Formats: sequence, C-alpha cells, structure tokens
Amino acid sequence: MITASGLKVVGGIALGKIKVYKPAVYDIKENLINEQDVNSELEKFEAARLNVQAQQHELYEKALETSGEETAGIFEAHELMLDDEDLIDSCKELIIDERHNAAFAVDAGFESAAQMFREMDDPYFQARSADVIDLKTAMLDALFGFESNKLTEPSILIAEDLAPSETVKLDKSLLLGLVTREGSSNSHTAILARSMNLPTIIQCKDIKLDEWDGKFAVLDGYNATLYIEPDAELTAKFKAQHDEDLKKLEALKNLKGKASMTRDGRKIKIYANIGGPEDISAVLDNDAEGVGLFRSEFVYLNSKEDPSEEAQFNAYKKVLEALAPRQVIIRTCDIGADKTISYMNLDKEENPALGFRAIRICLTRKDFFKRQLRALLRASAYGNLGIMFPMITSLWELKECKNILDECKQELERERIKIGEFEVGIMIETPAAAVCADELAEEADFFSIGTNDLTQYTCAIDRQNAKLERFADTHHPAVLKLIKMTIDAGHKHNIWVGICGELGADLSLTETFLKMGIDELSVNPKSVLPLRGEVRSVSLNK
Ligand code: PEP
Ligand code: MG
Repeated sequence: MITASGLKVVGGIALGKIKVYKPAVYDIKENLINEQDVNSELEKFEAARLNVQAQQHELYEKALETSGEETAGIFEAHELMLDDEDLIDSCKELIIDERHNAAFAVDAGFESAAQMFREMDDPYFQARSADVIDLKTAMLDALFGFESNKLTEPSILIAEDLAPSETVKLDKSLLLGLVTREGSSNSHTAILARSMNLPTIIQCKDIKLDEWDGKFAVLDGYNATLYIEPDAELTAKFKAQHDEDLKKLEALKNLKGKASMTRDGRKIKIYANIGGPEDISAVLDNDAEGVGLFRSEFVYLNSKEDPSEEAQFNAYKKVLEALAPRQVIIRTCDIGADKTISYMNLDKEENPALGFRAIRICLTRKDFFKRQLRALLRASAYGNLGIMFPMITSLWELKECKNILDECKQELERERIKIGEFEVGIMIETPAAAVCADELAEEADFFSIGTNDLTQYTCAIDRQNAKLERFADTHHPAVLKLIKMTIDAGHKHNIWVGICGELGADLSLTETFLKMGIDELSVNPKSVLPLRGEVRSVSLNK
C-alpha cells in the first residue's frame, strides 16, 4: 500500500477509484501526412465531431433542466454548428488537399470560421466567434483524449492543481473527493470543495498522476492522507468511519426547523453561501434561513459567453422564487484575481489580487455592470433580495454603485417593469473598508464581512500562494479586531452585520462572534446545521 499526505481542506472519508485530471495541453504540429493516412485522419475528425455533438446535446438537456431555455439554446446552436457544411468541408479539405492531420485541420478550420464571425458588423454574429472557439476546444479535447476528464463513475479526483473554472465544470454527483499537488486552503477551488463538502486535501506532493488512474483508494480528509490500494482491514476501518459520519449527518437533521438561538435567547440568522440555481436544494435541505452570499460570478464562470441581462435575470429569479420569503443576498460580479474568464479579455497582471477585479471592473465597464444591475432589479420582484457590492475600499465607490443602480431603476420604471423591495449592502473585505466602516454604514443597509480577503489584505498573505500556509493565521488578532470594529460601526448606525467568509463556519470562533454581537453568519450549506448546533450550545451570560 502506498500513502501520500498533504494539507487538510475538508475532512471526511471517501472510498473509490482514482481519476487523474489531465489539464489540456494541445500539441498541434504542422506535420504533413501521407496519402495512406488521409482516411484515418478523416475518420478521427468525424469521430471527434460526432462525439462533441453528442456532448453538446447532453449539455443542452442538462441546461434545459437547470438553467432554462436561453442557456440551453447555446448548446443547441453548438450542435447545429457542428453540422455546418462549410465548416466541415473546410476542415476536410485541409486533410485531403493539404495533407494536414486532423488536429491541425480542426485548429485552423475552426479558427478561420471564428475569424469570419469576428469580422462581421453585427455584435450578435461577432459574439458567435466565442462559440466556434469553444467548439474548437471541445474538438481538440476529443482528438487528444482530454474529454476523459469527464467523470463516468464515482471517483476521487487527483490533479496537479485545479482552477475554479475547471472545478465548477466537474460533475459533482460523481465526485467523492479531491486531492491536488498544489493549491492553497483559501483559494476559490478550496471554497468550492467546502461547499460541496467533499473530503479534500491539497499540497499532496507525492501523488503519482501517471500511475494511479483507476486504482482503488481511500481518502482520509481528517488526517489529510490518501491510501492507494489499502488492504481489506484498513478499508473496512475507513468504511466504518464513513458510515459513522453519515449517521452523524443524519442526527444533525434534528436541528432542522429549530431556532439559531443561544441558550440565553440571542437569535442570529444562519444563511448559506451559494454559486447559482444548482445550489437551491442544498439551501433547502440544510434548512438555511436565507442566502448570505450568492457569488454571482459563478453564473459568469458557468457561461460560455458574457451572460445577457435575460440569462442573468432567469438565474436570479429562479433562486429568489425558490427560496422566498427567505432573504437572498446576491453579490455583484467579483471577477478577477483567481477567477478569470476568457470572454472578459482581462489583461494579465503582476498582482491580480491587488488589481483590476470585482467592483473596479464593474465601475470601469459600466454597460457590463448595468446589465447585471438591471437583471437584479427585475428579479427583485420575485423574492426577498439583497444586493451586495464586493471589494469596496472607499465611500465614493459605494456612492457610484448606488448611483448606477438608481439609473437602472429609473430606466426600468420608464419601461414599466416591476421592481420589488430590496436591501443594498457591501462586503467588508478590505482593511480600508473595515477602518472606514463608520462612514460606509451611513450608505449601506448591511455589512457582510469577507474574512477570506480581509485576512489576505490585512496580513499581506496571498490566499493563492501555497507556500504561505504556515504564515496564514486565520485567527490573527488584527483580523478579529477589524471584525469587531465593523460590527460596532454597523450597530452604531443600526444596520445588521454578518460574516460570509470561511471564518463564519469555524466553530471554534462561534462564541467569539456571538459575543462581538454578530447578527448573521453565512456559511457553505453543509455547515449550516453544525453551526446551528454550536450556536444553541452557547450561553453568553455565563
Ligand atoms: C471573502 O473574501 O471572504 C469572500 C466571502 O469573498 P470571496 O471568497 O468570494 O473572495
Ligand atoms: Mg472576497
């Protein structure tokens, strides 16, 4: 038996086969082929085309169920594009007449089709170039065998590293656990793993990506150890622990419907953090009292193109309607830093966490921002909405956000579109905002403290940098002082203050936060009931 250890991100036990995740690196050479290879390259092309077409059809059906007709329509269009005779013929000609291999023909053929769309005048057709590029990637994945990243059975995924954009695409229903050689515990990939409650370890330096695919393994998230081909005795021991965990989870269900109230009667709100409509059932199953952070950028990350006002409206409306009358706080797009999207065309930066991200992008690209704000305002008619702005450092930013929101409101009123009641709040996730919370509170209905970034910026610890784990003190007194300052400033101005960063789920701090006067804690859905249990065990006047 081989073992490999790393750093714990999420505890828990997983037993199952290893699946090795291969990041796609295409080696496209302009090697000319011989006449006798033409047919086999044509066959490869055709097999890839049919394979990708079937994938797009599957995506269409899935999107129809989870995201509605508009999003599903994108995949339907992809399916049709793959039947386009001009596109198919241009690739085949590159193989037959110019003797290129299938990969080169796909790369060149799809690229020139994309270029044709880019050069069109109509913005709608220009945007179609992104679809062609997307299909090109899918075709190359099929040709190089990278579509094998798709899970086909319950698996423990091991990878060099995983970007948030790669993690969101994994089929959660088949994922048992995650192990990466790199990674940091406060990255968005780690946050996603926590929200899926998957046993996860990072910095597992000894994993063998080229040897372990398909092997049976046990992942012990509690002790951050992976066992490859463990013997029957060890497997049975972990299986028993796994079953014990399931029983404990079952027991937590007794807390459903109970108040999130300390033993001496102080009630707080326990909300959940989500990434999109696909998390609605997790909110309901775990009896969260609302959503304290809907990371709307995942709607963007999950989309092949800049999502339209309509597509966003549908996603927000779906969540608001399904969870009404619970409050749902939707954070405006926090793209940038580790969350990058190709269609946003953002420059590569030296210091992305200190760079062009979140509200800085939105205040610079006003049309982009207005599209989201209009969608949010329209959705407000369907539930209990809170709009939250991320990465605020100065009062003028908040005022400008509110002015643009007002502009959108007036537009919609002129268009006679119904708008509901909503709160407007901000994330306190920069030291500047915490220190100036007093003046920001005059312009906000609530504060939600983002301890992930607040810790990163206060302690000068890049949350993506794996080498800094040793220096990253999540309970740093400076961060705790800033949290207390923020709560006091909020209460002075009669607004409620919550925490939506990962620290909110840290049960060793629950009593501290309650004593500070916190009003709301928003955590990943699986942490809601354990947190409620903790709150109910605390007595503040002891
Ligand atoms: C935070 O910074 O604490 C937060 C909740 O936002 P994110 O983790 O998405 O940056
Ligand atoms: Mg943040």
